[in-house]
Amino acid sequence: MEIKAKPHVLVLGGNFAGLGSAQKIREYAGDSVDITLVDRRDYLLFVPNIPTDVMENRDPSKHQRMQLRPVLAGDDIHFVQATVKKVDIESRQVEFLPTERPGAECESLHYDYLVIAMGAHLTYDRIPGFAEFGHTVSDLFHGERLRQYLFEGGYKGGPIVIGAAHFHQGDGAEGLQPYPGGSIPYLKAACEGPILEMTTSMENYLKRTGQGTPDKITVFTPDEIIAADAGVKNVEAFLKMATGMGIHYRNNMPDIARLTAEGVEFVGGETLPAELKLILPDWVAHDCLRDLPICDSMGFIKTNLLMRNPEHPEIFAAGDCAAVTMPKIGGIAHQEAEIVGRQVALDMGRMDAEEANQALQPVTFCIGDMGEGKAFYVRSNTWFGGQDDVLKMGRVPYRLKMSYRDLFFMTNGKVPGFGLNIAQFAAEKVF
Ligand SMILES: Cc1cc2nc3c(=O)[nH]c(=O)nc-3n(C[C@H](O)[C@H](O)[C@H](O)COP(=O)(O)OP(=O)(O)OC[C@H]3O[C@@H](n4cnc5c(N)ncnc54)[C@H](O)[C@@H]3O)c2cc1C
Repeated sequence: MEIKAKPHVLVLGGNFAGLGSAQKIREYAGDSVDITLVDRRDYLLFVPNIPTDVMENRDPSKHQRMQLRPVLAGDDIHFVQATVKKVDIESRQVEFLPTERPGAECESLHYDYLVIAMGAHLTYDRIPGFAEFGHTVSDLFHGERLRQYLFEGGYKGGPIVIGAAHFHQGDGAEGLQPYPGGSIPYLKAACEGPILEMTTSMENYLKRTGQGTPDKITVFTPDEIIAADAGVKNVEAFLKMATGMGIHYRNNMPDIARLTAEGVEFVGGETLPAELKLILPDWVAHDCLRDLPICDSMGFIKTNLLMRNPEHPEIFAAGDCAAVTMPKIGGIAHQEAEIVGRQVALDMGRMDAEEANQALQPVTFCIGDMGEGKAFYVRSNTWFGGQDDVLKMGRVPYRLKMSYRDLFFMTNGKVPGFGLNIAQFAAEKVF
């Protein structure tokens, strides 16, 4: 008797979007598919909590990693630690180079379904002077470097400039309407929540360490309004508070030309003087993906609101690498992973169309540290055409931020569906 192989789902990337998609596919499609996940790292990096570790003087590498192998094995998901080199969408093959050991030969895997969840390349390497004069909080190396600078005698109390380089959004989400009459608009910065977060927590750092007043801080944005995706009303309230403290705010800034010992120099020649330059760079599509015919004008993967590529419905994208993910935040990756799981289950006959075809309605859901056990909480969809705009500040959001990471690790990344609802309830109703 011939045993028919199950369809093979290949997931590229194992952070929020990739792990979430693989787990949701297993949950909804059950044993109807074989799943393989490829990532060059064998751990999930909990990026959103790196800034808090840095500002509370902890080395983030000790707290923000979750091992992928046992987590995936528990769901019978095969794991390959490798760097993806090439995707051949005609022959449905992915070429990869194992990174577990040096000297390995390239290998390839065939797929029936492909989920691309490889995030984006954060281009610090394109900011002249960054290596010598820049700081950031988006990974373990830079996080620890900033922690040492702030707490081990590096920082001398000079001006602080915080902001983002220009993001170059492609045309891949044009015409999509997530809410009636809404759209996925253009942003000139990929992810500015952490910029707001670093602004308030640096203010607190200065106060706590007796190194000066908030007027040492300047926050800048390439856009008309910083983090507009968090809801214009919310951001205006936030800016009123920040500028009321004395923090300087500059909008519509040209791109960063270079960092120097003296400050941040912009295209056109203006320099904002700074001893500490806290920068997020441009988010750029990975080289191995950007020229594929499934990509938009900037190399981000084109999908509809069910996360499928329109020309290749066997290909999904989720998270930062998807054109529709704007801003580039993990909360939206989480919503997209849920959709990918339902769509594969639909194709496998494990879910009906009504349940599966729930299109993406992005919500910006973000909790940012403000220092001293306080945080701000934002839930908003107005930027996409929805009606909700909530901003809260205080101790409850801080506890929620910490508890969410703990709950994520405790449940191997499977935060129960009600996790966000509880957070929403606690933040919005309890205080
Ligand atoms: C400082 C900071 C704070 C943030 N705070 C928040 C927050 O509070 N809330 C929020 O919602 N979002 C936040 N974000 C955004 C959030 O971190 C990202 O949106 C999220 O990590 C995107 O998930 P992803 O899985 O799509 O991509 P990534 O997290 O970038 O993961 C991509 C994965 O693909 C793998 N990969 C990449 N290339 C290859 C390759 N060639 N071969 C094999 N594997 C590869 C990587 O190793 C990685 O595991 C923050 C971002 C930053 C920088």
